[in-house]
Amino acid sequence: MCRAMFDKILIANRGEIALRVLRACQELGIPTVAVHSTADADAMHVRLADESVCIGPPPARDSYLNIPALLAACEITGADAVHPGYGFMSENARFAEILGEHGIHFIGPTPEHIRIMGDKIEAKKTAKRLGIPVVPGSDGGVSSEKDAMAIAREIGFPVLVKAAAGGGGRGMKVAHTEDDLATAIATARAEAKAAFGDDAVYLEKYLQRPRHIEIQVLGDGKGNAIHLGERDCSLQRRHQKVWEESPSPALNTEARNVIGETVAKAMRDMKYLGVGTVEFLFEEGQFYFIEMNTRIQVEHPVTEMITGIDLILEQIRVAAGGELTLAQKDVEFRGHSIECRINAENPSTFLPSPGKILSYHPPGGLGVRVDSAVYQGYTIPPFYDSLVGKLIVHGKTRTECLMRLKRALDEFVVDGIETTLPLFQKLVRTPDIIDGNYHIHWLERFLAEGGMDR
Ligand code: ADP
Repeated sequence: MCRAMFDKILIANRGEIALRVLRACQELGIPTVAVHSTADADAMHVRLADESVCIGPPPARDSYLNIPALLAACEITGADAVHPGYGFMSENARFAEILGEHGIHFIGPTPEHIRIMGDKIEAKKTAKRLGIPVVPGSDGGVSSEKDAMAIAREIGFPVLVKAAAGGGGRGMKVAHTEDDLATAIATARAEAKAAFGDDAVYLEKYLQRPRHIEIQVLGDGKGNAIHLGERDCSLQRRHQKVWEESPSPALNTEARNVIGETVAKAMRDMKYLGVGTVEFLFEEGQFYFIEMNTRIQVEHPVTEMITGIDLILEQIRVAAGGELTLAQKDVEFRGHSIECRINAENPSTFLPSPGKILSYHPPGGLGVRVDSAVYQGYTIPPFYDSLVGKLIVHGKTRTECLMRLKRALDEFVVDGIETTLPLFQKLVRTPDIIDGNYHIHWLERFLAEGGMDR
């Protein structure tokens, strides 16, 4: 049992993740405070929380990213901890620090660890030092074009130019040949400057057909840390995950244990606190670290489904000073789980489709979970991400999981807006997906080759 627990948690987020955190708090018996912009006054997380505070107008920079408003909301309600969810303030070291200065707990790692992992160049150096295999590339940022060319020739084309402050797939450009390098660096720098206010870039070998495999970790900040297996997030569009599954169709038990233990050991050495995800590209049996996310991830439910462990609850428990109650040997992986991110977008053009949901019927039954904050009559505002909800299914085997996913997708009704449900209905019937035979470029190719029209 933990020695201490929070009195009241303010959830600095919106949508399905605010609801997910709220549910964990309720099960722990902790009162909750929802915050919302004026556009979210009718949102589900506001309705279900014990208290709510309006923190500003619709644009996120004036509300969900507004530190003075969030602090004031903590002061007014007497919240002694903040759960940031994902996105928004979740990887903002300064926010974690400011909360600390006001005697409020940030439910996440230390500001120092957030800062290191938020700078991808620093993160790679740290990973390497901790014995985690990394993608070959420049050991730090690239300054001159001449240096960049020398490094690129050494690692071999194609190379990927990446922003040190990158996130959400922005500030990333491929240079296929020497002739492309200068332009790729200039575009990546400009994009990074505009998106993150930091134009530092570095080079990496561009892997041709890797899978994206990430390891979920949990640490208590006291030197205890475990891994909770992997998630395969190779199905991506514009470097954004679309479908996630665990276990990965590409790993066997031995490979999982080896990479899992390497990562868990690194987390023990760092004295990492909280949940985190160490992301890798995996090609021809080799793992290559790309980044670490120091927060809960959108796709965390697939791990919960196969381990039975409530990741948010564990995250809150260790943030309150509790020691890990789980040992590695207590973690058992059962069956298979797949998550589909259903967005309010046209399934072929991916143009956003915000608006009013006229009818809503989520699927149910054994092994079916829907994490969503929408309801019939709810209007999806145009200001935030386009996630309608996540459909997560579990089965004893991957085959059972796919059969269940197929029927759950066919049962799901969301009328009034366009959604990406038809994309998943197509994918679940496509041979490469059924066989688990895909890599990070598979989905883009499938779409470019008219896969949705066949
Ligand atoms: P972000 O923080 O913007 O999400 P990541 O470093 O996590 O950036 O990379 C996102 C995605 O971009 C990966 O999942 C992968 O699809 C692609 N990617 C990243 N690095 C490489 C690389 N070296 N070679 C090929 N693809 C890559």
